[in-house]
Amino acid sequence: MTAQKNGPKSSPGTLPTSDFIRTIVQTDLKTNKFEGRVITRFPPEPNGYLHIGHAKSALLNFGIAADYGGVCHLRFDDTNPTKEEVEYVHSIQEDLRWLGLDWGDHLYYSSDYFDRLYEYALRLIQKGKAYVCDLSQDEIRRYRGNFTEPGKRSPFRERSVSENLDLFERMRAGEFEDGFRVLRAKIDMTSGNLNMRDPVIYRIMNVPHHRTGDKWCIYPTYDFAHGQSDSIEGITHSICTLEFEDHRPLYDWFLDQLNIHHPQQIEFARLNLSHTVMSKRKLLELVEQGYVTGWDDPRMPTLSGMRRRGYTPESIRVFCERIGVAKRENTVEIAMLEHCVREDLNKRALRAMAVLNPLRLVIENYPEGQVEELEAVNNPEDPSMGSRMVPFSRELYVERDDFQEDPPPKFYRLAPGKEVRLRYGYLIKCVKIKKDEETGEVIELRCTYDPETRGGQAPDGRKVRGTIHWVSAPHSIAAEVRLYDHLFATEKPDETTDGSDYRRSLNPNSLVTLSSCRLEPSLSSAKSGTPYQFERLGYFCLDPVDSSTGSLVFNRTVPLRDSWSKVKKA
Ligand code: ATP
Ligand code: MG
Repeated sequence: MTAQKNGPKSSPGTLPTSDFIRTIVQTDLKTNKFEGRVITRFPPEPNGYLHIGHAKSALLNFGIAADYGGVCHLRFDDTNPTKEEVEYVHSIQEDLRWLGLDWGDHLYYSSDYFDRLYEYALRLIQKGKAYVCDLSQDEIRRYRGNFTEPGKRSPFRERSVSENLDLFERMRAGEFEDGFRVLRAKIDMTSGNLNMRDPVIYRIMNVPHHRTGDKWCIYPTYDFAHGQSDSIEGITHSICTLEFEDHRPLYDWFLDQLNIHHPQQIEFARLNLSHTVMSKRKLLELVEQGYVTGWDDPRMPTLSGMRRRGYTPESIRVFCERIGVAKRENTVEIAMLEHCVREDLNKRALRAMAVLNPLRLVIENYPEGQVEELEAVNNPEDPSMGSRMVPFSRELYVERDDFQEDPPPKFYRLAPGKEVRLRYGYLIKCVKIKKDEETGEVIELRCTYDPETRGGQAPDGRKVRGTIHWVSAPHSIAAEVRLYDHLFATEKPDETTDGSDYRRSLNPNSLVTLSSCRLEPSLSSAKSGTPYQFERLGYFCLDPVDSSTGSLVFNRTVPLRDSWSKVKKA
């Protein structure tokens, strides 16, 4: 276990508190409820990639363990072999490590407990607390009733212990088809809590498991495996999301009947983020149906997508700290996450110049063949990051948007007859425009420069307001740049008023690909994982998947404009 603090600093003698869960843990420590132990766990089901909501849960569990000198387990709740894959087991570990989390030797799988869980099921049968039921899945559902109607007892509920033991053993031996019989807990068909109406605890699935192979053809349900797995591992605090509040009486019932170690379950509100979906089922649909290029598509709310997009683990940790944990559900604006990313990148990103929509610019009075090296700072926030030399020559590229032939009054960039500053360079003035004869499109600007203004200041003190970025045309390198917007155009794609599918809210402009960008030459050695700020355009990173030598692809991580801090100031 590497200590990974995400709680507040504690003064000597007092323990840190910052949320209601830590308060509970602290009380348990005081009363010696678990003999001073704190053991938490992050229990993903390996049926998809981790998303930012999982990050909140993982950071909370690992953070509490670290704050109180405890241990946090990583356990795969792998009880459903039809939906689970080894690919997910790997990606989940990779993403957690990327977040800086370390479980040391404490890597577990619910499937490692299949023998134990089978024994537990036998114990329940022997106590007359579980029975084999022959109703179909549909019938079980109908018999269960609903919130207003009590359930009906299964006709198989009163089977004898010996008949149940025999049938359960034969279920395990592979005598029956999938779904033919199940094992159910015998609790209370009239309970107000539907989870207590004789829930299914074992089902027949003639499917090999990624870890146990063909050993089993019956598998415990999530509800039967989850709490018992926590118990087996000696978990002290089983932290989970609110939807498990209604499962707690069931988990307690199992533990009481089996008379085994009883962790304290604590529920907190899951993270909901605006402009995206977080259900693994929906994310899988987006991947499988080709709405995105994969789980690591930079528009996905997955950790692998965010990593590829250039989000840093530090910014995700800060975000999760700031949103905190609460008992009530709400939706956090995605702009707040982007704010955290921007804040972090501002400190660490190397500055560079890149032109996304190039327009050719020729400085008529600059000597042909001359090249100057101009000094440009790498990060004005951090002088220790030094500077680099950027080549300047007679032919440049500037941003098409930085020129207007007929500009409005407050346009301080390039326009006929107007003077503008080239970042780190000279003052230039546009003297002529070349247009395409057929389309009328501006294809080249002809300018003059003032040789006295190197560094951007005029010796006579004349004022020039606008500063634009540029690259030297012959020295610049080509790249593709991908600009991203929210994956969904509406704030809550899950909640449509007309009952339409969440996919109807997909944002058709979530990806804009610019294929003829020109970058300053230093970016030819850009490394994936290094953040850059392309001046005036935002934060960018090399796409680790689609870039190769000689064909550079950059992702825009976030634009510079911070809508969240603006909203908050207003
Ligand atoms: P499902 O169970 O529907 O497949 P899940 O997102 O709950 O999806 P799990 O693999 O069970 O997936 O999640 C692992 C842990 O992450 C659980 O403890 C779960 O409660 C927690 N978790 C999942 N989604 C969120 C979220 N949006 N916010 C906070 N915690 C979450
Ligand atoms: Mg779950």
